[in-house]
Amino acid sequence: MEKVVLYRFPAGCNAKDDLLSYLRSMLDEVCGKIAEKFAVYDRAGRPRKAFILDVLTRYTCPCCAVKALTQMRRPEVDSIFKECHNLAVTLLIQALRNMSKSCFAVDGEFSCEYGRLDVLVRRLNGGLLQVQAGGKELIVEVKTNMGVSMKQALRYLMEKPEATAIVWRVRKRQILVIDGKKHRALIAIYIAAALQQGLTVLNGDFTPCNHNLMAEPFELKNPQSFLDDFLTCLTDGLPKIVDMVLEALLISPQSLGMGAGEITPP
Ligand SMILES: [Zn+2]
Repeated sequence: MEKVVLYRFPAGCNAKDDLLSYLRSMLDEVCGKIAEKFAVYDRAGRPRKAFILDVLTRYTCPCCAVKALTQMRRPEVDSIFKECHNLAVTLLIQALRNMSKSCFAVDGEFSCEYGRLDVLVRRLNGGLLQVQAGGKELIVEVKTNMGVSMKQALRYLMEKPEATAIVWRVRKRQILVIDGKKHRALIAIYIAAALQQGLTVLNGDFTPCNHNLMAEPFELKNPQSFLDDFLTCLTDGLPKIVDMVLEALLISPQSLGMGAGEITPP
C-alpha cells in the first residue's frame, strides 16, 4: 500500500477557524482509509468513524490499535452500570423538559458524526430552533462509574467548537464543564493526535507488541452499596446539573418562573 504522508498545514491557514476544519477533513480521510484497510464498516456500508476515532485515541500502542480494529471485541460491562446510566439520562432529560417552558429543546441519544451523545440541549428562539451555532447548545455526558471519559465531549466539540460539553460524574458528585470556545487549541491537538496514530496504523510503522488487549471483566464487589450510593447521588445531583445546564445556556431560573434547583412536579 502506498505510504500516506504526514498531513501538512496549508499555507495561510487561519489557526482560529481554518485549522479545525482542515484537521477534521484530514481525520475524515484517514478514518475512511482505515475503514477500507481493516474493513470497518457499519451495516449501511459507512465507515465506523466513531469506533475508529475511539480506537485511535484509546491506544497509544499502534499494534494494540490494529488488534482492536481487527478483533472488534469489547470487554463486558456489568449491565447495572448501563441501567443506572439510562436511568440518570432519562431523569435528566425529563427534568430539563419540565423546566424548558419552550425556552430550549432537549434530545437524548443524539447521533453525531463521531458517536452517540447522552443529552443534547438547544436554545429555542420564540419556539423556533436557532439555526446558527455559537453558545446556543450543549451536551451532557453522564458517567455512572468513578471513571471519567472526555472522549464523547471532545468528539462533540470537534463538530461544534462553539458549544459547551458538560460531564456529569454522578457518583463523584461532580459536574465538569468544557467550553469549546476556550479550548479550541486543545480540540485541534486532539484531532492531530488521532491523525498521528491513524497514519502510523495505516503505514504499518510499528513493531508487534505483547500487550494483552482484553482487560479483565470488571466485577462489582458490592452491588447493593453501589446502587444505594448511586441513587442517593443521582437524587442530590439532579437539581445541580439542571442549574448548570441553564447557567451554560445563559437562562436564569427566574425567567422560567422558578427558583434555582427547583423542579416542579408535572
Ligand atoms: Zn500494544
